[in-house]
Amino acid sequence: MATKKVKQQAQSVLKEVFGYDEFRAPQEEVICSILDGKDAFVLMPTGGGKSLCYQIPSIIREGTGIVISPLISLMKDQVDALVRCGVNAAYYNSSLKAAEAKDVLDRFEAGELDLLYVAPERLLTKTFQKRLEKVKVAMFAVDEAHCVSQWGHDFRPEYRRLDLLPTRFPHVPRVALTATADTPTRKDIAENLHLTNAQCFLTGFDRPNITYRIETKGNSKQRLLSFLNREHPEDAGIVYCLSRRKTEDVAQWLTDNGRPALPYHAGLTQETRQLHQDRFLREDGLSICATVAFGMGIDKPNVRFVA
Ligand code: ADP
Repeated sequence: MATKKVKQQAQSVLKEVFGYDEFRAPQEEVICSILDGKDAFVLMPTGGGKSLCYQIPSIIREGTGIVISPLISLMKDQVDALVRCGVNAAYYNSSLKAAEAKDVLDRFEAGELDLLYVAPERLLTKTFQKRLEKVKVAMFAVDEAHCVSQWGHDFRPEYRRLDLLPTRFPHVPRVALTATADTPTRKDIAENLHLTNAQCFLTGFDRPNITYRIETKGNSKQRLLSFLNREHPEDAGIVYCLSRRKTEDVAQWLTDNGRPALPYHAGLTQETRQLHQDRFLREDGLSICATVAFGMGIDKPNVRFVA
């Protein structure tokens, strides 16, 4: 049971560090459970507020909270946002140059970090494992935990090896988080990450502000444009396409017709993808035409349509 003091501590970090007045369900319960040293499994929709569930305990508990995430392109955004809130956070992944990576690891080893975001393949390297042994770890958060499951749509073999964490760090609490897991996937995640005794926090997925509409195809570009101009004259959104070429073609066509859009697919260079993603996050009314390579974990509060 979380004591009043623990709740107050969590509440004051929420307010003083993040500037929010109230927790959303079930953030407070998850945080208190981790602060109590217990493992947790969190299933909340995208945008529900999963990050605070591990950020706040990492700040409060002694040591560094390790966040394992496959989304390298988003780590920088998350860390930048934390640093702006005054949190000592860093990330360690393949996008860092050797000197930058060394600097991060040195700060980590010196105990200077509240949070360290790590790509799974980096976490598993010998170098990192050695450093882990020398450092006080506050907790482990496995983000996008469905990547561990072969039933999920985004299986990552390295995620399977995260079962070494409970063996090597039996007293460090772990939380697995995902927005997409049906019952078999959930069971698979819990078994693979040895979280069968973890407390499960599930929230509803009903989103009353989301409407789905299905239309037959035919002159699809023109219909897309009419839809945008009629219902979203100033808004940004995402247009998913089946091929890389189509993303470029549609983005160009929309732009030519007065609706600025950029393409995003795995065939573009890392720099171009990052640039297009950054512009999508920051510019008003700019849409993205993408393959399914795009979307997971994008934190943009005003995406108003998906076609
Ligand atoms: P998820 O990881 O579940 O997709 P995030 O953790 O990125 O969601 O949170 C989505 C957005 O909601 C972020 O902009 C975050 O700052 C905001 N948010 C999270 N918790 C709260 C809260 N208790 N009060 C207000 N805003 C919140």
